[in-house]
Order: sequence, then structure tokens, then C-alpha cells
Amino acid sequence: MTVKLATSTAGDKPYRDEEWQMRVDLAACYRLADRFGYSDIVWNHITARVPGPDAHFLINRFGLRFDEITASNLVTLDQGGNVIDGSNDINVTGYVIHRGIYTARHDIACVMHTHTPYGLAVSALDDGLQPVIQDAMMFYNRVAYHDYQGLSTDVSESELLATALKSHNAMILRNHGLLTAGATVGDAFIRMYYLERACRAQIEAFSTGQAVRIPSTDICEHAAQQYKHFPPGKYEWPALNRLLDEQDPSYKT
Ligand SMILES: [Zn+2]
Repeated sequence: MTVKLATSTAGDKPYRDEEWQMRVDLAACYRLADRFGYSDIVWNHITARVPGPDAHFLINRFGLRFDEITASNLVTLDQGGNVIDGSNDINVTGYVIHRGIYTARHDIACVMHTHTPYGLAVSALDDGLQPVIQDAMMFYNRVAYHDYQGLSTDVSESELLATALKSHNAMILRNHGLLTAGATVGDAFIRMYYLERACRAQIEAFSTGQAVRIPSTDICEHAAQQYKHFPPGKYEWPALNRLLDEQDPSYKT
């Protein structure tokens, strides 16, 4: 089944309104990721589920920088890794890392994987993420870990990643990087923002060589529960989209 359907409301774009909006959101996420220093030349991938029953998902065309991503140059993949729409240039590791999560977690609409500097550093630490600052509390006992398996080119790793993630929305790929997942694109992006900042604070605090004060387990859990009242992205994502629209709305093309 194809996801291409002509509509009158999507202008000259041959996509259903819901898919076009998802493409715009995902393109915005790439542009913002680049602005926040989360891009890695042409590596890394952020994906979003195409609304509908087909379990297709959108991914960046391999070879483009994050700041070159637009709504219309995103590529649609099916669960078998076949290109349904767009360029055949796909980073297979993007397919492997993201695919299993969409299969296992129907609540997830976006998966973001990065090699951010402080995420990389924490990914190499045996004790992983520590609740050093407030931003880390939303991940307290709520971050998964996936052991390094080499480059993620074997599709069997797809299920291992989904199994490791369990019901969490954040994961540290040991010796590799970070992953966040969200019910919306904004949800996944903002989780990545706070996860990378928590990693940065941890590295910087411990790098001072001074004793680091960590709150009690009860307080950490209390703070984690409090974050339920502040859904990631609810306020930040519209604010960031306004920034893009003011400065460079070309992501929408
Ligand atoms: Zn990676």
C-alpha cells in the first residue's frame, strides 16, 4: 500500500494532511537538533511514524546534513526496510535502531538517536546516568541501557533494542550514544534536550574533582513523579517552532 494520496489541503504536496504534518514536525526536529549541536555531519537519525495502519516510518536521506532536511526530502520506510517513498540512500543503522521500537511500542511516534558529546561520555561510564541535577530526575530509574554490539547493521539488534527500552522513553546505548522516544516529535526532542543536559552536568560536576552531592532516593523518585505534570515538549516545542518560523521556515518545504 502506498502512503501517497492527493489532497487539496496539503497544497502541491502529494501527502495526506496527517503525514505532511508529521513530515513538517520531523523536519523541524532535524533543524533544531542541528541548532542545538546534536548533529554529526551526515550521521545519526531521527524517525517518525507515518500516521496510519501501515507501520511505515520517516527517516533522513543518508548524506544530507540535518540543516538540509525538509519535509519533502524525508524518506518513507516500511517495516522490512524497503523504501516506500523517496531516495534509496538510507543508513541501515537508522533502520535497525528505530524499527523494533515502532513494532513493540505503539505509543511511540518519534525516535531520536544522537552522538551528543556528553551523551557519548556518559554512555562509556559503568554507572551510567546519575541524578546529579534536576533535569536528570525525569530519567531517575526511567532510563534503559543497551550493551554495545558493534555497528548496528544486523536487524536482529532491532528486537534487542526494543526489549531493552521496555516501557521507558530514554535509553543510553552503551559506548555509543543516546536515544529518546516520544508520543510526539516534540516529546522525543525535548527528552533528548534534557537527557543531554543531564549528561553534561554530570560530566562537568565530576570533572571538578570535588565531592558531588546526590539527593536521596526518595527525593529523586518524588521529583521523577512530579515530572508527570510537565509533559516534555508541551510548552517548549511550540516555542522552538516559532523560532524556526521566524528565522528559517524552509524546513516546511
Ligand atoms: Zn549511533
